[in-house]
Amino acid sequence: MEIDYGKLRLKVGLEVHQQLDSEFKLFCNCPAKLAPEDVRYREVVRNLWLSKSELGEIDPAALYEIARGRKIVYRVPEGHVCLVELDEEPPHDINREALVVSLSIARALNARPVDEVYVMRKIVVDGSNTAGFQRTAIVALGGYVEDEDGRVGIQTIALEEDAARKVAEESDYVVYNLDRLGIPLIEVSTAPDIKTPEQALRVAYRIGLIMRLSGRVKRGIGTIRQDLNISIENGERIEIKGVDKLELIPKVVAYEVLRQLSLLGIREELCARGLKPDDVPEFFTDVSEVLKDCGSRLIRSSLDRGMRVYALPLPGFRGILGRDVCPGRRFGTELSDYAKAWGGVGGIIHSDELPAYGISEKDLESLYRYMGLGRDRDAFILVVSDYERAERALKAVIQRLKQAFVGVPKETRAANPDGTTRYLRPQPGAARMYPETDIRPLKIDESILKDAEKIAVPKPEDVLRILVEEHRVSRELASQLVRDPSLHLYLDLVEELKSVVSPQVIASTLMVHMKSLRRDGIDVDRVSYSDLVKILSAVGRGEIAKEAIPEAIKAIASGSSFEDVLRSYRVLRVEELEKIVDDVLKSSADLIKSRGFEKSVSLVMGRVMSVVRGRADGALVNTLVRRKLQEFLAR
Ligand SMILES: [Zn+2]
Repeated sequence: MEIDYGKLRLKVGLEVHQQLDSEFKLFCNCPAKLAPEDVRYREVVRNLWLSKSELGEIDPAALYEIARGRKIVYRVPEGHVCLVELDEEPPHDINREALVVSLSIARALNARPVDEVYVMRKIVVDGSNTAGFQRTAIVALGGYVEDEDGRVGIQTIALEEDAARKVAEESDYVVYNLDRLGIPLIEVSTAPDIKTPEQALRVAYRIGLIMRLSGRVKRGIGTIRQDLNISIENGERIEIKGVDKLELIPKVVAYEVLRQLSLLGIREELCARGLKPDDVPEFFTDVSEVLKDCGSRLIRSSLDRGMRVYALPLPGFRGILGRDVCPGRRFGTELSDYAKAWGGVGGIIHSDELPAYGISEKDLESLYRYMGLGRDRDAFILVVSDYERAERALKAVIQRLKQAFVGVPKETRAANPDGTTRYLRPQPGAARMYPETDIRPLKIDESILKDAEKIAVPKPEDVLRILVEEHRVSRELASQLVRDPSLHLYLDLVEELKSVVSPQVIASTLMVHMKSLRRDGIDVDRVSYSDLVKILSAVGRGEIAKEAIPEAIKAIASGSSFEDVLRSYRVLRVEELEKIVDDVLKSSADLIKSRGFEKSVSLVMGRVMSVVRGRADGALVNTLVRRKLQEFLAR
């Protein structure tokens, strides 16, 4: 389906979060890096308490977390965490190095530094901050980035502390490692000036590139994260958290537009049917008796374990729950997200997807009859669980169904790896920022600004010149690379491997081999940064030939270990190569003799290379083949 984003008044704003590569954390002197698993860990368990604001209000996001009633477990690695992260000691003054780096990036983004930095507390209630808030400080305002569809404004640039790292999660507890809490992050927020999915990608890419070019940000997976704000006319401004791959951005935007359009379509359909929010029943029924002999093993074993099957009847809703909201997700999936998040149940089963899951046509008929519903117009939802969870789950589903009459509910969503999104939590209230009274305001004086100016951030336009003149990459490859998301990866690899392997080899690995393998359907995303470092280092050390790079990547992508790869693609010794050439000559002796030298070279070369499979330098094989062939024919 062709979508006219201009007509829908699509507005997208980006928030790019990037970890800074400073020595210390933002508000204490712990190292700004993740802890290894083999240090000593202690554990601290906390519970979340709810309190009202001065105005007697309760934050909807806070209420949500309390309703889930989870225990929060903090892992405390020795040497990486002090009393500040545990919220047992006030934070220290803001880290000057991090401030200087953030101001240098702000300059490159054409933003004005503020006169004075005030640290604020932003309420975060999922337990990822021990204090119940995240500290954040605006350091610059009002910049822009250039884009082919016009300048995109930058509203704020802030310095923030990263949250604790979630390492495990169940319905009744969550475990965080505190090592990441307090690592400095720069947050760049654009104005909602972005108008197409492709523009969102270009702008995110450009902002990320400018940060990367400062040379003072952390690299690798998890060090950069994008959040998106997406709205269309008559829809709602939806926050989408945690897009950690650039390539996913256009998909996330396009799917969110599709989702909002579908939800508006559902609203229209409900109105056309004459239904009203009050038509959504507030009660549910125990239907365990009806299903006690059904073919679903899940249901029967749950009943054996003392759980029950509860049904929410939905008169007039037939066909609504099965409607697609975006690829692979139906309206029923949206409801299921609410049931999972609020009730901690495994999900829901709805009548539009039945018969299925062992529930037969006959069971379906019995369920309809039992609840006094009509198959031609009504629907229902089933939850298999204990009463308490079912009640929480179905109450959330009922609220969500009522919102279907408004259209798009205001919520915070999380990105899935396929570009679709899932419900994460309600959007917090607007009043979630207040001053951090434990930290003094800091004047940005001349000395800080001077230090920021000393960090020269090249402009994106200069990168092409650096690649061609300094890295000696061909102009053709370089101009592809500067427009490609793998430029970041390239720059990282060059920095890490510059004394080992040439930038040309790195560039062709990323832009030629990886791309052609991907076109051939190889899942190259399974090859991690450290796999690439290992392969390219081995090439640099002469252990595997650069001709073997595609084969090595392919092997790793299909699950081989690097040790296997090294064994299979180790460079062949000259004696081994000679033996292969001799064998080929022997086996095709008659053909070669009848063809003569010139016509046999490519034949022999081809057969030898198919045995060598990249384990030798092509030029060396060619020389060897020519010499051996001459000797063979002279015999
Ligand atoms: Zn600390």
